[in-house]
Amino acid sequence: MFKTEKSRALYERAQGSLASGVSTAFRKSVTPTPLYFERASGPYLYDADGHELLDYILAWGPLILGNNHPAMNEALRKQLEIGYSFGAQHQGEIDLAERMVEVLPGVDRVIYSNTGSEAVQAALRLARGLTDRDKIIKFEGHYHGWMNNVLVSIQPSEEQFGVTTPMCGGQPSAEYADTITLPWNDLNALEEAFKQHPDQIAAVLTEPILVNAGSCMPDAGFLEGIIDLCRKRGAISIFDEVITGFRIALGGAREYFGLEPDLSTYAKAVAGGYPMSAVGGRKAVMDALDAGRTTHVGTYNGSPMATTAALTTINVLAEPGTYERMHGHGYAIRKAIEEASAKAGHAVVTTGTGTAFSVHFGLDNPPRSWRDVLKADAEKYQRFRVAMLEHHVYLAPAGRWYVGAAHTDRELERLLPALQEVIGAL
Ligand code: PMP
Repeated sequence: MFKTEKSRALYERAQGSLASGVSTAFRKSVTPTPLYFERASGPYLYDADGHELLDYILAWGPLILGNNHPAMNEALRKQLEIGYSFGAQHQGEIDLAERMVEVLPGVDRVIYSNTGSEAVQAALRLARGLTDRDKIIKFEGHYHGWMNNVLVSIQPSEEQFGVTTPMCGGQPSAEYADTITLPWNDLNALEEAFKQHPDQIAAVLTEPILVNAGSCMPDAGFLEGIIDLCRKRGAISIFDEVITGFRIALGGAREYFGLEPDLSTYAKAVAGGYPMSAVGGRKAVMDALDAGRTTHVGTYNGSPMATTAALTTINVLAEPGTYERMHGHGYAIRKAIEEASAKAGHAVVTTGTGTAFSVHFGLDNPPRSWRDVLKADAEKYQRFRVAMLEHHVYLAPAGRWYVGAAHTDRELERLLPALQEVIGAL
């Protein structure tokens, strides 16, 4: 049995001062007793009860280089000594902006913030400032941060399909009244919404791969369709690349799919574990700031520790062969899961890429949207995940895996026999 005595004691203590006991509600769904970690190195986490866990959550995406990466440690230590916050201009913010413009196809200008939620809001404000319109379109199953205007229809049940539904208490309806929610991978529904709200839609916001709900891939032509429809209808297309950015390719979905939406948001992998986010886009759109049509502010924007972390992460990721290796590792895991499942007689499909993918037991075909993901055997995946923890493999709920540059053949050698044993016994 996986021991959690020390973690349990810490969790009990936390509840005496930290409301709800954890720092973000989503972490409660990872293990029955939230685990407490003492240190981390590469792709390994060391918990209070003495386990060394092989990590495929990667802090929910950011740790694309793993923990303790020598280049990151050195760069951050150096920056720490010369100043960790100026609240003013410094060369590092230009160096990073130039590097982002260089590696992100179709991005001419960037702005900085600190979290994915903020970057999404900054992108929506740019779109609204530029278009003088209020309404935005998002899709079922898509998570774009915790702000009221986008925290809707995150995991809708069948009765909630087609209805913009808040996720929790404390979300006044006025704050999401301008948010239209549509099923994903459905261009007809999008066209219909543009017809129903002529000249009112400021932006269409989408994850280019629906990583947050089952790593569903876009149908051929769907993302292009969003970009084209937005251009035709005077709206701004926004790819929320908080997960896919710097993860599925150095240039994110823009490079992976060869597409150039008006704006993209970045966070998580961009700074390898440091709080840092950004919006990038076409000059004509980003010029809304220079033209005084809207504004962008934030005390910590472009802080030197964050820009150092991001520049270092990007430079390490840019080393030849990095993405091939990371994707190769992930595809090897997907193949092993599929083969072990076939052998044991379990229906399974895996979706996404090599660096961010999802495992769906009980499905025969790749899900195309949240509505399909709902039909997977979530209970079987949960049993799989609990059993993998007994083998000291740390996995996120709902089938999601993240792979990074710290995962090597050594980790595969440790992982694959555990996978085969667990799936064989499911
Ligand atoms: N957009 C997407 C696609 C995300 O996955 C997330 C976080 N999981 C966010 C936005 C919000 O980012 P943050 O938690 O950094 O605010």
